[in-house]
Amino acid sequence: MTTRTLIVHSQEQETAKKIAQEIQGEIEKNKKHFRIHTKTEFDINNLRAENSVDLNIFDYSFDYSNIKLMVSDMDSTLISIETIDEVAKEVGLYSEVSLITEEAMQGNLDFSESFKKRLSILKGVRTESFEAVFNNRMNLNPGARELITFFSSNQIKTALVSGGITYFAEKVKNKLGIDTFKANEVEIIDESITGNALGKVVDGKAKASYIEELSELYDLNSEQVIAIGDELMI
Ligand SMILES: [Mg+2]
Repeated sequence: MTTRTLIVHSQEQETAKKIAQEIQGEIEKNKKHFRIHTKTEFDINNLRAENSVDLNIFDYSFDYSNIKLMVSDMDSTLISIETIDEVAKEVGLYSEVSLITEEAMQGNLDFSESFKKRLSILKGVRTESFEAVFNNRMNLNPGARELITFFSSNQIKTALVSGGITYFAEKVKNKLGIDTFKANEVEIIDESITGNALGKVVDGKAKASYIEELSELYDLNSEQVIAIGDELMI
C-alpha cells in the first residue's frame, strides 16, 4: 500500500495529533505546518468537514522537480479581498451586490449570471474607484510574494486566473511578476464601466480550460501543473 502524506496547514500540535490518531499516521513537524504520513486509507473531505483547518494530500509519487507551471486564483488567494465586493463598498453599493452573492451561494445563480448581475449593479462606476480599491484596500496575502518568487526562481511558469475584473488581475500580475493572466474584460466607456461584460465570463469551467490551454501552449501534462485557489477550480 502506498504511503500518502497529509499536509495540515496549522501550527497547532493538538489539531495535528488528533488527525494523526484518526488516520494512524506519523507526524512530522515543519516550520509552519505538520505533515502526517500514513498507509491508512482516508477521505480528505471527511477530515476537512471534521476539522476547521486547511488540509491537502501530497502523494509520494509527486515529483516537485517535474513541475513547470503554477496557476493561481486571485481573490482570497493571492490577495486578501474579493475585488468586486470592495469596489461595491468603495461606491456604496455593497448591500445590493452582497444580495447577489448570497443568492449565488444558495445555488440559485451560477457564477456567470452572478458576475453579470453584480457588474450591472456597478454600472456608472468610474475607473478611479478601481484605482482607489487597488491602492487602499488591496493587500497581498501573507506568503503570496514569496510563493511567486519561489516558482519564478525555479524556472516554473506562473499564471493568474480570476473570475474578477481584468483591471485588478493585470495589476496583481505586474505587482508580483506573474508571467501571464486571464480575467473578465468589462466594457469601459469614458472611464466609466457600462455594466457589460465583454466576452465569456471566467467561471470555474473557464479556469479549467485556461489551465488546459496553457498546458498545451507549454507542452505539459497535468502532473507538471499546480493549481491553487480558495474554490474548486477543476
Ligand atoms: Mg478566490
